[in-house]
Parts: sequence; C-alpha cells; structure tokens
Amino acid sequence: MYKFDVLVIGAGAAGLFCAAQAGQRGLNVLLVDHSEKVAEKIRISGGGRCNFTNRDATPANFLSENPHFCRSALSRYTPQDFIELLQRHNIPFHEKHKGQLFCDRSAEDIINMLLAECDAGKVTRWQPCSIKSIAGPDADNTDYRIESDRGLIEAPQVVIATGGLSIPKIGATDFGYRIARQFGLRMVEPRAALVPLTFDGADWAPFAQLAGLALPVLIETSAADATPKQRKKATVFSEDLLFTHRGLSGPAVLQISSFWREGQPVRVNLAPGVNLPDLLLQAKSRSKKLIANELTSLVPTRLADAWTSTDPALQRPISDATDKALLALAERLADWQLVPNGTEGYKKAEVTIGGVDTRDLSSQTMESKQPGLYFIGEVVDVTGWLGGYNFQWAWASAYACGEALAIKNSAWQA
Ligand SMILES: Cc1cc2nc3c(=O)[nH]c(=O)nc-3n(C[C@H](O)[C@H](O)[C@H](O)COP(=O)(O)OP(=O)(O)OC[C@H]3O[C@@H](n4cnc5c(N)ncnc54)[C@H](O)[C@@H]3O)c2cc1C
Repeated sequence: MYKFDVLVIGAGAAGLFCAAQAGQRGLNVLLVDHSEKVAEKIRISGGGRCNFTNRDATPANFLSENPHFCRSALSRYTPQDFIELLQRHNIPFHEKHKGQLFCDRSAEDIINMLLAECDAGKVTRWQPCSIKSIAGPDADNTDYRIESDRGLIEAPQVVIATGGLSIPKIGATDFGYRIARQFGLRMVEPRAALVPLTFDGADWAPFAQLAGLALPVLIETSAADATPKQRKKATVFSEDLLFTHRGLSGPAVLQISSFWREGQPVRVNLAPGVNLPDLLLQAKSRSKKLIANELTSLVPTRLADAWTSTDPALQRPISDATDKALLALAERLADWQLVPNGTEGYKKAEVTIGGVDTRDLSSQTMESKQPGLYFIGEVVDVTGWLGGYNFQWAWASAYACGEALAIKNSAWQA
C-alpha cells in the first residue's frame, strides 16, 4: 500500500502543473497517467510549437453552462504569470496572431519545464499506471482508496485531470466523467468542439474541388428561426476558412464549431469588408468580362469559378446579367448559409465542450461536492476558444486547485 497527501490522475497540462504546485507547497504528491508518455496533447499542440496561452485571455473567451465559473481562477493565475514562468526557465517564445503565444523552438520546452517544476516539488510520477477503481472515504478510513495496477494507493485528496474525449488515439478517455458520475456529480453532455464541419456528399460536390483553398471570412451561427435581436448577439469570428474534401475547416470554422448545434446553419461572409452589390453593379456598367472573371477581383479565382459553375444564370458576361441576379449573387456571397450534417468528431476535435457540471464544483478551489475530490482542466465544463485559451484554463484551474490542496494540508497538520 502506498500513501500520499494527494493523488493526481492524468499527467497532461493541468495535472502536471497542479502536481508541481502542490509538491512545491510541501505536499507528498503522486501523479499517474495510463500513457507511457506525459502530456501528448502539449507535444502535438500548435503544430508542435504549443500555443501555450493568449495574452488577451478574458472570461469572455470561454464557453460553459455557467460563464462566470472561470472568472476567479483566471484572475488568480493570468497569462502574464505563465509568461513569467517561461521566462524563469529561459524558454523563448513569440506572438503570432491576436495575442496567441507560441514557443520559438518546440512544445517540448513546455513539457520539460513542467517536468522540472514537478521535480522541484519532489512529485512521484508513475506512467504507465492504470486506475481500476476509486473508493471514497468512509467510517473506517478518511482517505480515498485507489486500486491501481501498481497496487493500492491511499490519499485524502484526489485530483482528476484526465481531460476530455478528443483524440482517443493519444490516450483520451471518459475516466473523469465516470468518476464524476460515481460520486453523484452532475454532467453537461460532452460534444466535440474546435472541430471541422462536414456536409452531405451531394450538397458538397460543387465545393469538394476547392479542397485546400483558404480565404479570410466572417463566420457566425444562429438558429434558422433566430430573430434579428438574437442574431445581433451571436458571436462572429473574423478568421481564415479552409475548404476540405468533406466540408469546412480552418480557424474560422473551428471557432464557430464550438457554438454550432445540430440543425443550425453556419453563415459565412466570403468577401468581408467589400461592398459587393456596388462593385458588381459598377462592373456591369463598364465590363464585358464573364461574371466569374469579374468575381476574381473580389474572391479567390477557384471560388469564383466553382460558385458560378453551379448556376447557368451566372455563366455569362456581367454586362448581360440582370441587376436582380447580381444583387442575389452579392447577397449569397456575403451571407452564405449552409447546414452542416455533423462534425469530424473526437478523432479530429481539439477539445471537448461540456464535462463535469460547474454547479457541483467550487470556483475557488475546483473541489467538488464530494469533499477531497477535485476536477481541473478540460474535464470541467469550461472550454476556451481557439488561440491558447484552453491551456490558460488548464494552468489557471490547476493553480487554483494546487493552492487549495496546500492550504488544506497545512490546516490538517496544525
Ligand atoms: C491537436 C490539438 C492541438 C491543440 N492545440 C492547442 C493549443 O495550441 N493551445 C491550446 O490552448 N489548446 C490546444 N489544444 C487543447 C489542449 O491540448 C487541451 O485543452 C489541454 O491539453 C487540456 O489539458 P488537460 O490537462 O485537462 O488534459 P490533457 O492535456 O488531455 O491531459 C489528460 C491526461 O490524462 C490522461 N488520462 C486520460 N484518461 C486516463 C485514465 N483513464 N487514467 C490515467 N490517465 C488518463 C491522458 O493520457 C493525458 O495525459 C489542442 C488540442 C489538440 C487535440
């Protein structure tokens, strides 16, 4: 039998950081992961360079059934705090786009830093190590009793940091959700997010040939019957969209996928910042070029060709087109509405939206209604936008928990 002050399950971003915090506060911490390697998601994140935070992160960049839950943790551990940690470890980084910070060299720098922080806290690490069961404290024992494939572990505090369901092939499981249910905590139904959207084969056929084409767009989603007032409140992203063989991807689509619900249309402005009606009507009065050729000054050539090829009324010189047809074309390009038939699912999703219901967690400490049982990182129903926000949540929630564990322990010893 092994005895520790804290058992942290899941050696990803949140688990490593929390274990390090608690260890450095003098707690005897065991960190376990069922994978042989730690932090595989950090390794593959940001194209191998890890977009480890966003300089401008605020609670408005997170989705949750309770949007206020993340406030406290995010304000107590900020992007600047994590930047200072990197600076102490002499890790070079740069800002790429809209506050997104990436490592100059490789995501390995972040993993090595977290491991060094764990070493500084004398954290014991076991990988691979599988947890078979967790029994809660009872009249005979104030500790949790955890059956692992390396033997029985006893600890008064257990932190679940096993992440969400995305990318099962690198170790994602529903372990955290199962433990939450076992202890009677509520769940917000999980679904894939920051994920490409797919379309029915027949609807998509004219656009499949555009696979690989990227262009800047404005994108939003709202219910088909949304009122103008509801639409005004919808979140709009200004990012690049990427056509794929099966549908749409790129940062614009990953962002909107977190807001999209089945049956809803996504609405795309394919020529943002351009007054399409005026430009097309002006072109009609001075040009005899085909509509497709005129469009190439407004949208990429491949898109102009594919778009006009679907409609015989658009396969003519622009001077021969009716004003009505040109205005309809302008309207459709500026507000292209299409209903995805689904997403690429967890195998391609960067995150899982939903998870352990925040109503059953303390926003100060991440402790659940089950005393001594904590949930941090992506397993919780807090999901960031694309752009470094999800790691910032992992660090901030881990820090809040790590601090609480230390305080609790010293109180017990007093
Ligand atoms: C391809 C990709 C790119 C991404 N890029 C970025 C980015 O650049 N910036 C950003 O902010 N976010 C990014 N994300 C999201 C980010 O990686 C996650 O939000 C973050 O890793 C969540 O941290 P976590 O510690 O909660 O979970 P994870 O980092 O997923 O760690 C969970 C750990 O728990 C372990 N585990 C799971 N089940 C069990 C079990 N049953 N027993 C024991 N251990 C278990 C796993 O092996 C894993 O090590 C990306 C995600 C993906 C998939």
